[in-house]
Amino acid sequence: MQVFTHPACLEHHTGSDHVERPQRLAAILQALGDAFPDLDWQQAPRARRGQLLRVHAPELLDSVLAPIPSGWVALDPDTVASPGSAEAALRAAGAGIAAVDAVLTGTALRAFCAVRPPGHHATADTAMGFCLLNNIAIAARHALAGHGLERVAIVDFDVHHGNGTQAIFQAEARVAYASSHQSPLYPGTGARRETGCGNIFNAPLPPGADGTAFRSAWENDLLPALDAFGPQLLFISAGFDGHRRDPLADLRLEADDFGWLTQALVALAERHCGGRIVSMLEGGYDLAALADSSLAHVAGLRQPVRDPS
Ligand SMILES: [Zn+2]
Repeated sequence: MQVFTHPACLEHHTGSDHVERPQRLAAILQALGDAFPDLDWQQAPRARRGQLLRVHAPELLDSVLAPIPSGWVALDPDTVASPGSAEAALRAAGAGIAAVDAVLTGTALRAFCAVRPPGHHATADTAMGFCLLNNIAIAARHALAGHGLERVAIVDFDVHHGNGTQAIFQAEARVAYASSHQSPLYPGTGARRETGCGNIFNAPLPPGADGTAFRSAWENDLLPALDAFGPQLLFISAGFDGHRRDPLADLRLEADDFGWLTQALVALAERHCGGRIVSMLEGGYDLAALADSSLAHVAGLRQPVRDPS
């Protein structure tokens, strides 16, 4: 499998007390490099404007990509941009596009994009929740418009609901979106009744929910919905802030729970799309938990699982 990243993603600075900080990515890169010496590392290219315009309004691009000579610009109360942010955002989005190209041309079976800023809260016209561009939505649009796929699914196990991804695709029947997330919690969306055009599947979990509840939501609810949809490519918004040590939320997941779900998703991908998966980093704010969880996720993606069915 391939791992896409870029040094520019370490140069998106958010201020000394912001949880979405460069050390997050550094911890993941270090852990992956130590654990898996044979990983196929790839430099993420920049996304092109036309690829971003498949998802985002021109005004959003002008605002997020505007040069910042020094200091910080607050795009919303949580979301900060600095001189290196535009390049980081272009490389983060470009990683997903390159990963789609790699997986759909057979260069790789699966790819993980170790990038920041994260993406799943960004809507078509608004940067929010630490997210500048919606990386996974841009990648999914590339699979549809650039490669002619007709059905792709986005799985989102970040502890926060991916309101941006849902809003972008809620009227797009070619894209299924399945999310487990803590509720109540930021951004407040993700109720079970939010079903889009029959393509949105939300499984809210109460504060304190543990791995048993998490696995049950996926096994009994979300994975069957994805099986019925039958994606030609599976995307993962891989956020690890559901870990019990994460400071931003109150789920009680362990790294093993992310590994379990990853293996279930690999099996799902084997059933429908030849095993092809593109996964992109979203949240996760305790550095040790983030490193452990990322290792469990990438280990799961590396499994050559063949589903018996
Ligand atoms: Zn999150």
